[in-house]
Parts: sequence; structure tokens; C-alpha cells
Amino acid sequence: MFGKQKAKLKVFFICEVFFQQLFRSNLKIKLKFWKINSAIFKSEHEYSNTSGEKMSISKRFGEREIIDTIWKNLDVMPKMPVPFGDDVSAVEIGRENLIVLKTDMLVDKTDVPPGMSVWQACRKAVVMNVSDFAAKGVKPIAMLVSLGLPKNLATAKNAEQIGKGLNAGAREYDAYIIGGDTNEASDLVISISLFGTAKKNTLMLRSGAKPDDLVAVTGVFGKTAAGLKILVEGLETPKKIGKILVDSVLMPHARLKEGLILSQTKAVSASIDSSDGLAWSLHEIAKASNVGFLINSLPTAKEVRRFARINELEPLELTLYGGEEYELVLTIKPKFWEKVEKAVERVGGKLLPIGKVTAEKQVLLEIDDKRSLIEPRGWEHFKRVKV
Ligand SMILES: [Mg+2]
Repeated sequence: MFGKQKAKLKVFFICEVFFQQLFRSNLKIKLKFWKINSAIFKSEHEYSNTSGEKMSISKRFGEREIIDTIWKNLDVMPKMPVPFGDDVSAVEIGRENLIVLKTDMLVDKTDVPPGMSVWQACRKAVVMNVSDFAAKGVKPIAMLVSLGLPKNLATAKNAEQIGKGLNAGAREYDAYIIGGDTNEASDLVISISLFGTAKKNTLMLRSGAKPDDLVAVTGVFGKTAAGLKILVEGLETPKKIGKILVDSVLMPHARLKEGLILSQTKAVSASIDSSDGLAWSLHEIAKASNVGFLINSLPTAKEVRRFARINELEPLELTLYGGEEYELVLTIKPKFWEKVEKAVERVGGKLLPIGKVTAEKQVLLEIDDKRSLIEPRGWEHFKRVKV
């Protein structure tokens, strides 16, 4: 018996050594194969972009580069009434009318700050879409919702809050949710597609600003940047001011009444909503209209000045380079200023003049006779920009 066991052990030992060797060499082969594979993968995905720069799959793009690259690979629909990249899209219906469309998505990890409820997130997803319609002067009629829901949020209470939040957002602007799709996802995703109609000649695009037009906004800036600093970074401020700042993040409002009346005046040469921040919005109009800006009055909220003083922050940074705020940024033909100002007051809003359009293609800030460049930065996905 003892001899047999010894023999068995010997065989076992030989087998083990054999398999170890086999495994090692196999692993080496595998590693080699993987290296070759990844080299092929890399070379296949290296290419020159339009400016001749060598690009590879590993280069990390920002949101805007992703959009540009996708757009370059699409066939352009003939006679597009609204150029790609404006706040909304549109399709011609007959000679004078347009069907106007918008889709915008809210994702829990990147767009929902701590302290925002499911109800508020769903309402906000609607509001940010309506804001783009407001900027173009289009009344929303109906919307579809695509919902990605993680397992842990799939409860009766959450489903009710989602329904109520979506409905609250839609009904605030006299629109309805008329359908949608629900799926399981690894993060909460609320994607809204908005639908409306408009007369072709009343749509306010980004591209019509002319030198000497006046620049105006529909409200003050910086509250959301400050509110996010309270919610995300835990910065402190007196309760009353803190509530105003935090509410601006949790309960945003679209300037739809203002946008609709402004489009009726036909005195607005360019318009955008400020969802990516004031600085970015100015640069977007400048690019689309081929003009520049001279801004001489910063529309900083008084609560933001106080918050900045307490926390030793720059009010200018909070005002220009925030985001997630839904004011309108407009250029207006100077001779119509009073008429436009009164029209906005009639619907309970106000217009704040902040500067003028220039032929020189720079976006400048002039404070106390000192000029400085307003940088083209603001909120961008995949490239978090901290204010
Ligand atoms: Mg927009």
C-alpha cells in the first residue's frame, strides 16, 4: 500500500509541475497576445483630426468635443430651420410654422446635488427643458419621459414622487407629460423630450446679434453657484440667505413668460438660456453671431455678494462661471429697448442691461475703466469645472 501511495504522489507531483509550466507559458502567450491585440486596437483607433493633430481613442473628450465629433459624422437634414447646437431643434411644417423639439437629460451622479429629493430632481428635469424653449420664445405643449431607474430606487414611494415631480414641472408651464419609457439602469436618469410649435419668424436664435445691440439678462446671477457650494462643499452662511441660495438650486424656474413675450416684440436679435453659466452663454452668442461683447455691469445677486464676503470668495467668479441657472441672456436692438423692457414688466419680469455687442470678437468685462477677458468656461460634463 505504502509503495502505491508513493507512486501516486510521484505522478501527482509530476502532473502538478507539468500543469504549472503549462499555465505559466500559457499565461505568457496570453499576455503577449493581449499586448499585440491592444497595439492593433490602438493603431486602428489613431487618426488625424481636422486640424492635423494625431488623436487616439485614449484621449479623453469633454462634452462639447463629444457632441462636435458625433455631429460631424451625421448627414445634415436639408433646410434645417434651427442650426445644430442652438438651444432647440425644429422641423418645418408648411411655410411659416415649425415643430420645435428639445431633449435634455438629468443624471443622478452628475446633476443631482446632495439635499435634492427625487420629486425635486424630476421637476428640475422638466424645468431645464422648458428653459430652452423659453430662450427661443416657444410655448411647450407636451413631453415624453425616458426614465432609467436603479433597483434600489424602484419603490412605490419613489414611483409616486417621480410621477408627482414630473407632473408639477409640466403643469407649472401649462404642459403635459403624454408618454415615455422606463428601464432599469445603474443610476437615476431622467431624460425629457419636449414638443411645441412656433411661427418661424418669431423664433429667437443665438445667431442674430449685431454690433451696438444691447445685452440684457432676465435676473441676477451667482445664486446657484453659491447654493451648490453650500450643498456640496458645506460652506456656511446666515440661514435666511442660505435658504435663498439653496432654493435656487433645488427649485429652479424657467423664464417662460418672459421668453414668450420677448419673442412677440420681434426686437430680440439673439437669445440663449444661461444653463451653462453667464460667461459661457455670452461666448455661445458671440460664436453663433460672429460678434463680441463689452460687459460693463455684472448682474450679481445681493445674497451672492454677502455669501462671497463671508466665505472669502470672488463674487465675479460665482456670477460669471456658475451654471444650472435658468435666466435668459439676450441682445436687443437699441431703438426698441423701452418697448421690450415694458413688455417684460407687463408679465411680471424685469430686464437688466449688462453691456453691448461689439464688432471686435472678444468677450470683455469693463469695470472701473479696467478691461479684462471673460473666459469661455462654465459647466461641462466629463470635464468638471470647479467655480
Ligand atoms: Mg440652453
